[in-house]
Parts: sequence; structure tokens; C-alpha cells
Amino acid sequence: MSQQVTPQGQHTGLFVNPAAGRRADFEAACGAQFAQLALVDSADAALAEVDLKPIDLLVIDLERFDPELDHAGLSRLVTARAGAPTFVLCPFANARWLPALMACGPVEYAIAPLGEEALRAAIGARLAAGPTVLAAPTPREQELDALQALRARVRQALAEGEELDALAERLCQALCGWPGVLHAALFYLQPGGDLQLQAQQGERNLNLAKVLGRAERLLQSPLRHAFPGLVAAAGNTIALLDDLDKPGEPALAEALREHGVGMVLALPIPSDGPGAPRGSLCLLFRDARAFSRDELDALAELCDLAAVGLRLADMNRESEAMLAQVTHLSTLDALTGIANRRHGETLLEQEIKRARRYKHPLALIAFDIDRFKGVNDRYGHPVGDMVLRAVAEAAQKLVRASDVLVRSGGEEFQVIAPHTSAIDGLKVAEKLRTAIEATAMPGVDQVTISLGVAQLGEHESADSLTVRVNAALARAKRAGRNCVELAMG
Ligand code: GH3
Ligand code: MG
Ligand code: MG
Repeated sequence: MSQQVTPQGQHTGLFVNPAAGRRADFEAACGAQFAQLALVDSADAALAEVDLKPIDLLVIDLERFDPELDHAGLSRLVTARAGAPTFVLCPFANARWLPALMACGPVEYAIAPLGEEALRAAIGARLAAGPTVLAAPTPREQELDALQALRARVRQALAEGEELDALAERLCQALCGWPGVLHAALFYLQPGGDLQLQAQQGERNLNLAKVLGRAERLLQSPLRHAFPGLVAAAGNTIALLDDLDKPGEPALAEALREHGVGMVLALPIPSDGPGAPRGSLCLLFRDARAFSRDELDALAELCDLAAVGLRLADMNRESEAMLAQVTHLSTLDALTGIANRRHGETLLEQEIKRARRYKHPLALIAFDIDRFKGVNDRYGHPVGDMVLRAVAEAAQKLVRASDVLVRSGGEEFQVIAPHTSAIDGLKVAEKLRTAIEATAMPGVDQVTISLGVAQLGEHESADSLTVRVNAALARAKRAGRNCVELAMG
């Protein structure tokens, strides 16, 4: 295409972009449509031009502008236009510019990258519309109603939701209610920093996990620069893909088109503080269309709402996990890690009920370390603690998985043995006795235990069983220790 452009139009134009190459490209593509076209490299230079002479059409090409650094200057520029035609070329992966600039005054936009032909057509159409002051595009009544309804549904989902998965599903469902939305998805950053596809709703045959090749580790996906849901979560930006071919990923475009998707919009879900967003809400539309400022604002508000709801669900999940941990801890003896006395009592009651219901025998074994006071006296309390741990460990290894080992007191233990008669209980007790006798205790002479065994009577209570087994244990002590005694009936 010739670089020599003969001005034909009657309009004055101003194009702003920091890159000389892009300015030259624009002049080559669209210069002929203007009688006069000024090309400038910054918002300040554009402001100076705008002050100097009337400009029929201002074209802001946002590629290479930095949303952090250039936001103030470009906002001033749009404000200075006071509604005069302003056209923004917005990169699809940086659509957070749109609501920001729309907040300063009416702007029209096209999503970049845009082919030369498409650019020429867009600029031509804009110029043909004349130098009239742009009215803020008023969303149709119907659209506003739909947004109202969507907001109500999202609120409802948040009010009902206490569980993360269910809440995410309901949010997606709510978003599908917006006209033109085919499918909605929620990408969520897990506590470890892994971005996952948390939920999706809508088109039954469309599975984004399949389209993206995975449902987790999505920040590492090769499509993180191309698919709006990932772009928004990775870059904390709005991503608006109005033409699936724009990111240059033909397979992705094809897969989406196959399911009738024509446009994808994604917004970041803000985090509580600074830093990466919590994820993104991703909307897949049947057809491409432009968004009004009201719509973009409403969607951003929905993301804020979603963020609050998801945070609450996260907190619920965390506190449940903590509660489970605390509950678990409160049943365990801190020194040996086996069931503590209180939990042992609960379990004994449970096992008694079960034994009675199913008419199974139940044995209770009680054992006590012999002359343990002497261990403490000779080697010190910490060594005594080590011996307690070693005894618990050796006993735990020996009992069956269905048996419960309990630390019932200082150096006293119990084994609750379901499906076990007195005879079998005696065998278990004898095995325990020989095992402890044979266990090497670090830095201590041999340790032995005395044991009592009792079988649950037909109508016997837990208390009575415990009294009888302790009496048997006391007899074992009296009999000289390191032996087993069976309780009387
Ligand atoms: P017996 O053969 O009659 O059972 O003699 P014993 O010395 O083991 O009996 P006694 O009941 O007189 O002493 C038990 C000792 O166990 C006293 C106490 O200091 C000790 N003990 C209880 N709990 C712990 C503990 O958690 N750690 C340590 N190191 N010692 C404990
Ligand atoms: Mg003892
Ligand atoms: Mg004792």
C-alpha cells in the first residue's frame, strides 16, 4: 500500500500513540479519510492539539500506553473532549481501559488488534456519523431490566451460599441469565496460588476444561495470554475478545466457535488487598456486541459482590477445617497421640451399645506400667515421658485396627477390643505383656506392665466394666507385676 496519502476527507483528525510505527500505520490506513490528520505520541501532546484547534475525531490507540502511568493523562484528554467524538482502539487483553475512560466522557471503542480494512471501516463509519456530540450510549430498557434481574440473582446466590463450590455454580448460573450469554465460568485462585476452573454453567456440551486443555494450573497454561478468563485473572484486567481470531490461537477460536461462541468477556474478581486478583468471572456470548459504561460498571459491581461472597465461603471452609482439627486434637492425648481418657470413655460407651445391638462380645483390657515412679526417680521426668511414648507406640502396633488404645491415666492404658471374648482378651493381654517386656526402651532398663482383662456382661454398664477391669489389674500388681489377671464375672 502506498505511503503517499492524498487527503480527501473534510474532517480534522488527531491520532495518539507512543509508538512511531503505529502512528505511521494509522496514517497509511486512514490518512486519506481526513483533510488534516495530526499524529502525536502522548496524552499531553494531544491535549495541546485539542486546545489549539477543533478536532472532529480523536483516535486514542491504547496499545503501548500503560494503564498505571498514562491513566491520568488520557483521562484528562477524554474529559477535555467534552463529548466530542472520541474513538478508542483498546487491546483485547487490556479492556479495563474502557470503563476507566468511559467514566471521563462518552467514548466509542473497537477492540484491537484490528485489521487495516476493519480499522478503515470503523473510522469511516465514525466520521460518517458526523461531528455531533456523542450522547452516552443509553442501554436499552430491556438490557437494564436484565441487569437488575442479574444483580438480584447474584445477591440471592450470595445469600444462600455458604459452600464455595455451590456458590460458584450459582454465580455462573445467575450470569447465564443475562441476554446473549451462552456460558459462564468462574476461575478461582486456590489458597496455594493455583488458578482453577471452579465452576461453569450454560451450554451443556461446552466444557472449558477441554477447550483449555486443563482445569488447574491455569496460570501456567499456554493460553493464559489468549483466553479472556485467564487473561483477566493473570493480569488483573478486563479482557474483551469480540473476535475469536484476535489472540492468534486458531485451535482455541475453532473450539469456541464450534459451540456457538462469538465473544468472550472476563473481569477480574478483586482480592481483599493489593496483589493478584482472586480469579475471574468469564462470560461467553453468542454474538459480539459493544458494551455501555453502565453495563461494564454493573459487571464490575457483580465481581465485587462475588469477591465478598467467595471470601466468606473461603473463610467458612477454613474455619470448618480448623474446627475439625481442633475437634480431632481434643480427642487425643498430647504426649502419646492416642485417644485421651475422655474420648476413651465416649468410645467405650459407643462400643458397648454396638456390642449389645449386634450381640458381639467386647473385652476391656487395662494395663499399668510397673514401678514407673522408679523410672522417673532414676532417669528424670523427660525420660519417663519417652518411656510412656514408647509403650504406647509398641501397644498400638500390636492391637487390631478395630481396637482402640486409650491413655486412661498417667501411666495407665486401656484397650477397647470389640468382637473379643474374655479368652481372646487374655491372649491379647499376654501378647501386650510380652511385647512391652521385649521392647528396648532407650536409656532405661527393662519396662514391664501389669494387665487386667474383663469381658462385658450382658447388662453391664461402662462404669461397672471399668471397676472390674481395674480390680483385675490391682490383683495383677499384687500377684507380683508383669502378669495378666482376668476379672471376676
Ligand atoms: P506400680 O507398679 O504399682 O504401678 O508402681 P508405679 O510407681 O508405677 O505406681 P505409682 O502410681 O505410684 O506411680 C505412677 C507414676 O507415674 C507417678 C507419676 O509421677 C508418673 N507419671 C504419671 N504421669 C506421668 C507422665 O505423664 N510423665 C511421666 N514422666 N511420669 C508420669
Ligand atoms: Mg504403675
Ligand atoms: Mg498407676
